[in-house]
Amino acid sequence: MNYISTRGDATERPFSAILLEGLAPDGGLYLPTHYPQIDAARLGHWRGLGYAELAFEILRLYIADIPPADLKALVDKTYTAATYGTAEITPLRELEPGLFIQALSNGPTLAFKDMAMQLLGNLFEYELGRRGQVLNILGATSGDTGSAAEYALRGKQGVSVFMLSPQGRMSPFQQAQMFSLQDANIHNIAVEGVFDDCQDLVKAVSADLGFKRQYQIGTVNSINWARLLAQVVYYFAGYFRASRDNGQPVSFAVPSGNFGNVCAGHVARMMGLPIARLVVATNENDVLDEFFRSGRYRVRGSAETFETSSPSMDISKASNFERFVFDLLGRDGARVAGLFGAGLTRDGGFSLPAEDRARLAGFGFVSGKSSHADRLATIRDTWARHGDMIDTHTADGLKVAREQLQDGVPMVVLETALPAKFAATIQQALGREPLRPAALNGIEDLPKRGVVMPADLARVKAYISAHALC
Ligand SMILES: *Cc1c(COP(=O)(O)O)cnc(C)c1O
Repeated sequence: MNYISTRGDATERPFSAILLEGLAPDGGLYLPTHYPQIDAARLGHWRGLGYAELAFEILRLYIADIPPADLKALVDKTYTAATYGTAEITPLRELEPGLFIQALSNGPTLAFKDMAMQLLGNLFEYELGRRGQVLNILGATSGDTGSAAEYALRGKQGVSVFMLSPQGRMSPFQQAQMFSLQDANIHNIAVEGVFDDCQDLVKAVSADLGFKRQYQIGTVNSINWARLLAQVVYYFAGYFRASRDNGQPVSFAVPSGNFGNVCAGHVARMMGLPIARLVVATNENDVLDEFFRSGRYRVRGSAETFETSSPSMDISKASNFERFVFDLLGRDGARVAGLFGAGLTRDGGFSLPAEDRARLAGFGFVSGKSSHADRLATIRDTWARHGDMIDTHTADGLKVAREQLQDGVPMVVLETALPAKFAATIQQALGREPLRPAALNGIEDLPKRGVVMPADLARVKAYISAHALC
């Protein structure tokens, strides 16, 4: 299996060549040359597999240049009951007949990003070791992504992490999650500014190509193909648990921001998994809902990008969305380049003509949106009627899932975070503190490790050069 760009560069690259990369050289995203087709016999066999075995069977179809025994060892050490709390890894619970929640948030940082990031950490360590290289990961975070990256890469050989976060602007819990890590290869930098200052600093460091090369600076952002691939696995796992047999279609509802999670569902469906609907749930930042309703993709400016109580879905554009549009347009890279390249910057978006819109239904996508009031109501209702405490993002998913239920088709809502991360909104909804996994009690009181600095490019660079692996 090889990989090509969504913008027409047809150079085929193997998995290990794109693993550590972000964008393709032409600015596109990487996708496999084709989706392997899973026939009934293989699906029947997979139904009986455990999570790590299933992950290995799926990943090996897409990763030809890591020897199977090595890949198996990497997968086996990633998906363990010790890391995810249960042998099932992503267990389902049935709220009501036919309506399930699939737990993707039992990893170390209590959000679904661990599902992919934990594998990525092991893949990075393996590939860097094989090449005899090192990598210094630089990132900016306002919460989930930064902690997931740190927990995935802590203590790994050949890689270190420099994570910028806005000083005093994360919840005490989130800050404690990151700053309590004592590993020598994890560098927390609290910047005196807001998240945008952190992101601007990362961009400025990366724009200095000489510096970037000298210190072997890399990223782990949501467009990384390996992350998306790791997420394909739990759609299969969830499907097997929610269905009687492999003739039964199942729908998935996905709290969405950058379209990485639901794009993995699209890949699973393209492989032949019987998914009826892929329900894209957005919050007030409804770029994606607007697209699936109208065929119009309109990137939002900062004045139109809202800070909400499901903050991990607060996006102005959906960075993985281009992958789906590539498939929707029959893999016409030249057209995708026209829509997403200079055209997107110039026009701030595009509208698909009716004949392309007509194809949307064939891909199973539907959408809906949820507001702060919906979120509170859904959290309250789920707690009152089911004794089940869900987080704000999952509440968005559940609210929209209920609008898209079909008779006889099980619906699986992906639980993308645990309520412990969003105490303020849980307080508002339920008048009490969120439940928290016992292992994390008292995390705010642990000793903290990190530095505070002004939003100053020279200071950040000096810190990196003093502490980078080389
Ligand atoms: C990242 C994240 C999302 C959005 O996922 P995408 O892949 O960006 O669509 C939703 N919920 C939570 C809790 C997240 O951390």
